[in-house]
Amino acid sequence: MKLSNYFLPTVREIPSDAEIPSHRLMIRAGMIRKVAAGIYSLLPLGLRVIRKVENIVREEMNKAGAIETLLPSIVPSELWKETGRWDFYGKELLRITDRHQNQFCYGPTHEEVMTNLVRNEVKSYKQLPLNLYQIQTKFRDEIRPRFGVMRSREFTMKDGYSFDCDEEAAAISYQKMHDAYSAVFRRSGLRFGAVEADTGQIGGSASHEFMVFAETGEDVVVSCSKCGFASNVEKAEVSPAVINPNEQVPQLPIEEIETPDKKTIGEVSGFLGKEEWEFIKTLIYTIDSGKEHIAVLVRGDFEINEPKLKNLLGADEIELASPETVKDITNASTGFAGPHKLECRIVADNSIENMVNAVSGANRDDYHLININIGRDFTPDIVGDVRLISLGDPCPKCRDTIEFHRGIEVGHIFRLGTKYSEAMKATYLDTNGKKKTIVMGTYGIGIARIAAAAIEQCNDENGIIWPYSIAPFQVVIIPLNIKNSELVNSANGIEEKLREAGFEVLHDDRNERAGVKFADADLIGIPIQVIIGPRGISNGEVEIKVRATGERRNIKIEELTDEVQKISVKLLES
Ligand code: ATP
Ligand code: MG
Repeated sequence: MKLSNYFLPTVREIPSDAEIPSHRLMIRAGMIRKVAAGIYSLLPLGLRVIRKVENIVREEMNKAGAIETLLPSIVPSELWKETGRWDFYGKELLRITDRHQNQFCYGPTHEEVMTNLVRNEVKSYKQLPLNLYQIQTKFRDEIRPRFGVMRSREFTMKDGYSFDCDEEAAAISYQKMHDAYSAVFRRSGLRFGAVEADTGQIGGSASHEFMVFAETGEDVVVSCSKCGFASNVEKAEVSPAVINPNEQVPQLPIEEIETPDKKTIGEVSGFLGKEEWEFIKTLIYTIDSGKEHIAVLVRGDFEINEPKLKNLLGADEIELASPETVKDITNASTGFAGPHKLECRIVADNSIENMVNAVSGANRDDYHLININIGRDFTPDIVGDVRLISLGDPCPKCRDTIEFHRGIEVGHIFRLGTKYSEAMKATYLDTNGKKKTIVMGTYGIGIARIAAAAIEQCNDENGIIWPYSIAPFQVVIIPLNIKNSELVNSANGIEEKLREAGFEVLHDDRNERAGVKFADADLIGIPIQVIIGPRGISNGEVEIKVRATGERRNIKIEELTDEVQKISVKLLES
């Protein structure tokens, strides 16, 4: 491919609205352009990477026995009503009305459509197991689209669904997908791990997320190197037994203390000379768009884990209450809530169960209570595990020390059981002619997120360093002076030869300064650069530069193809 005929609009300036390296570099390398919030065009270079990722995914899915299909993106509301998700999916679901006032959604995931297909076609155990997948555009009206294609509203997903006779067979299908996903991410050149995950909107009994480790990841993974435990912090259980240093102290009379303008635990603890662990943090939450408001209590030095809280309550949506609601419920401004004499349901985290003489808000502006005691001064309606695991906690499996890492979720697999098949009556006849419900699994991979995650893991101050397997081209040829006809002929010959040998070659034949060409080559991150200069040519030599290591070497033109081959094998193995 001659660059002069290609469409590769690179950008020198750092885009001001891009917060993380992959977003900045995908714009600068001419891979993507924004059309609207969370909606992007893929330019040719970006598309080449996406196709590479898709091919790896496709190969591994096919190898694992999954079969490719393609479902519509626009889905009639009737199917979503059968599972109840039309009402419960929330604001991420983009709803559409046609000219006949029929309602549809732009599919954010396709459990309903695939289950509908299978229930209509599958009648007998002989047709199972079945694993169908597609690579398709999804739409989710994300509350905060950001980081470019990492969290966009429109994006391409590989989504797959397995259908089995029973739980035992479904476990085998799940493991096959687990292995296939590992192969996909390994082949894509990523450092990743599979971790236990919350089942969220999709539901089901078990689930793993595949996390690419990167500082910029939005997720936090907790792991234990001793027993191998690894989980999204959203899901990680916390051991109920929290030792409070003052557990054995006698209860003192409750007392209201003036704390003018002191709202945060930090401010109040300084003012009262108390430690953060002596506080009961009280947050007011709104459940299911205002159906109920509740108070949630956690020890002052811990954080509430919203997915756990949501699961404990069996709620579809929870959010921190607005300042007006807080005022309604507590009679006080945000920052002064406490459980004493509170007229709403109280959910308490296990961590407050054995607190003695705690500090909390007094439900009165500028006042806090000291010596508040559970059982005597308030009684929670529910006590459970609703906090985030934190650094001092032991491993929930083996009680050894835990570690935290940031990660980017690139894939997610779920065991669904019969949640969807039961709702949609997807059944089959077993060997005895008895009607049984199909057992399902669902599996998703974010295609562009893989590309972005690869950039997060592999970049330097000059640009992208593509893993060889998903690089848009494998070799870039850089002739330094296109006015020199000998040099141009030689560059054309090398392009031809490398292409014939099976390499994807970008030939920077532009009439640009060498510095511009070098900068662009480094920016777009092609693994192998072949630099053709007048001095080398007169000796029958070119220079090879490996983008990942910066290593440069002169090579005889006759040996170039072999050398590129050798470097490629090495890069693929690294
Ligand atoms: P997240 O927690 O990041 O929102 P999710 O749990 O909602 O992800 P799934 O429903 O499991 O995601 O979707 C499967 C895969 O699709 C994810 O693992 C991710 O790689 C990709 N994906 C999900 N949402 C987006 C998005 N907004 N933009 C790009 N890729 C996405
Ligand atoms: Mg999501």
